[in-house]
Amino acid sequence: MQKTEKSIEQLIAEKHTAALHHGFHLWPQLGTAMMPALGDFRWTADLILATWLQAETGREPENGLEYRIGNSGGGFDLLDFKWLAREQWVPEDIPVSTAISLNRRPTDRKIEIPLPVYGGGMSYGSISEHIMLARAMAATEWNTYTSTGEGGYPDSLTPFKDHVITQVATGMFGVREETIQKAPIVEFKYAQGAKPGLGGHLLGDKTTMAVAKMRESVPWVSLFSPFPFHSVYSVEDHKKHIDWIRTINPTALVCVKVSTPTDIDMVAVGSYYAGAHILQIDGSYGGTGAAPEIAKKNISMPVEFAIPKVHRYLVQEGIRDEIVVMASGGIRTAYDVAKAIALGADGCVLGTSELVALGCTRCSNCERGRGCPFGLTTTDPELTLLVDPEWGAMRIANLYQSFASQLVSILRRLGLRDISQLRGRTDLLQYTKNSTSRG
Ligand code: SF4
Repeated sequence: MQKTEKSIEQLIAEKHTAALHHGFHLWPQLGTAMMPALGDFRWTADLILATWLQAETGREPENGLEYRIGNSGGGFDLLDFKWLAREQWVPEDIPVSTAISLNRRPTDRKIEIPLPVYGGGMSYGSISEHIMLARAMAATEWNTYTSTGEGGYPDSLTPFKDHVITQVATGMFGVREETIQKAPIVEFKYAQGAKPGLGGHLLGDKTTMAVAKMRESVPWVSLFSPFPFHSVYSVEDHKKHIDWIRTINPTALVCVKVSTPTDIDMVAVGSYYAGAHILQIDGSYGGTGAAPEIAKKNISMPVEFAIPKVHRYLVQEGIRDEIVVMASGGIRTAYDVAKAIALGADGCVLGTSELVALGCTRCSNCERGRGCPFGLTTTDPELTLLVDPEWGAMRIANLYQSFASQLVSILRRLGLRDISQLRGRTDLLQYTKNSTSRG
């Protein structure tokens, strides 16, 4: 939202009125008194409300809410595109493609997704089964993917298995041959950008009977996934891992999820030579409210720095066109997606933005007690019922719809007819102190 001389009370009242006008009756608890507490510098109140609106309508807001950038003072929020003059835009009658391939190697199965995004790993335990189902249903509707995360593969996801990535992480929770066999993509999580070097943790309060059963563990006990994989200390070890998966499921594509250490470029090259089809580089700032703030904000490299480092190194090695690079960790908007691609990624993996679409307020209560009061990051049977999976799927699918139309608009205004033409075009970006990304 543009700066004005209006008082904060006026701004709050206006936003609240706009929110009600656009049907945010589902959150009556978001009264005027709560608005000042909504969001933070990355996920501003505007961005949260704008994401809710996109999830309701499938379109970007037209009521003044800032839906393109946050207020972090760095990274994507200070990057803007160098828009072309209107006469150079791609005309409306010429089609523009936002599709990307998830396998760029000459061998193995071809998988194309219509948008350069899919849903990232959030485990059963960190989120409820209803949220997993909502994500899988939305992924199916958009012919894209969602990842189980590391907590096992609930049976209820099986009808959507062609759009579900299964994750193998250090805790090996719920990893079985049959879950690998039914997955079109298997994802190794070596690290996550929100908490690199810390592994994963699920506190005892959330380890219900059902979660413990899925994870083949003991209820009401905190579960920790170690860091790192103690069987992988080299590219050769990593290759053995990939060979193991490909033996169980020869048609699966393999994704490698890593955080962003300073030698991320070497990690990328090693992942390629080990046989990975997709490299997911997960920068800081991602993670739900369950990831410690000190880790989210201070340990790994922001993904805006990691992407061009990886892209350039893969180009120099002559292998850039044989591996797909997906960026994650703080990707909030369609504009973040486009900027990540301009920096050198092929596409992005979404996590928090899907939760925000489902009503997340960024209150950071994910891990405490029964978990999320809105039924998102909870395993409590009663709280889980707060979200109907079909309703959730509709909201995530609507967010994707809004992202799709915005990405097409971005490409048109840059004179590009295919999203692949945007990859690595840092010349189309500029630093701007007060980025609005407006064309
Ligand atoms: S507890 Fe719920 S609303 Fe709060 S940050 Fe976590 S998911 Fe979002």
